[in-house]
Amino acid sequence: MMTHRVPFDGKFSIGEFSTDPPDGTPSRNALGDELAGLVDELVALQQRLFSDQRFAVLAVFQAMDAAGKDSTIRKVFSGVNPAGFRVHAFGPPSELELRHDFLQRVAARLPERGKIGIFNRSHYEEVLVVRVHPEFLAAQHLPGVEGQRIWTERFESIRGFEQHLARNGIAVVKFWLNISRKEQKKRLLSRIDEEDKNWKFRLADLDDRARWKEFQSAYEAMLRETSREWAPWHAIPADDKAYMRVAVARVMVATLRNLDPRFPELGPEQQRELAEGRRRLEKE
Ligand code: ADP
Repeated sequence: MMTHRVPFDGKFSIGEFSTDPPDGTPSRNALGDELAGLVDELVALQQRLFSDQRFAVLAVFQAMDAAGKDSTIRKVFSGVNPAGFRVHAFGPPSELELRHDFLQRVAARLPERGKIGIFNRSHYEEVLVVRVHPEFLAAQHLPGVEGQRIWTERFESIRGFEQHLARNGIAVVKFWLNISRKEQKKRLLSRIDEEDKNWKFRLADLDDRARWKEFQSAYEAMLRETSREWAPWHAIPADDKAYMRVAVARVMVATLRNLDPRFPELGPEQQRELAEGRRRLEKE
């Protein structure tokens, strides 16, 4: 099975990652069946994760507009016990958030043990949109932001932060939904053409589209500098939604399987309670 994991050596170029599904991708129907199976498995694994109480999972989603972050999250996590996962969407930081360091608002929303946390955008905006729009950086009241040093330092901070999470039982897994410029145009047009999608259209999205090349080079630097063993990036082809969802679900299932969460083993005292419970109920 094709893997889309971004190498950890930082030597690749972003053009090596395809926006199309790989050769040999199953039919749409087969993808639908596979997704249903993966979602069932995710539901079961999440239940174990919850009962085990040792690990948490943090799934980060980043992409250009209209790549399908929202619908992928909705489809892959459909059926997972809502008590066991939470989605956070990160928009432009508030005045208060700007007075903190850039990791503060994400640190405050990390999943606790037993849960799956999903970030729809994340601290990575700080090396993407903020890098492409210098006026956002200017608003951050930072001492010393000259030249390239700031990005090198941010990558260092992010790597350290995520390694810290991994060491503390939070498995970090990151998805870059890789859409082509051509497909984005099609999807943005459909937001204009289809009335029930009109609410999703924002003219400002076209400004970021106009900076496609700058964004691609910011994504490339981000992937090179922050795909690491303890927090891998996956470059998911996003031009075909059915394939994208399956590819994300496969990685989520593999991540949870790898943690191997277990139902807690019962000690003698709990065994005794079970036996006692049965005795009392049967006596009623
Ligand atoms: P989405 O496009 O994800 O559906 P929104 O329309 O609310 O959601 O867009 C969120 C916006 O917030 C995006 O344009 C994104 O670039 C911006 N944003 C997120 N984080 C930051 C940040 N740290 N600094 C500046 N802008 C940010």
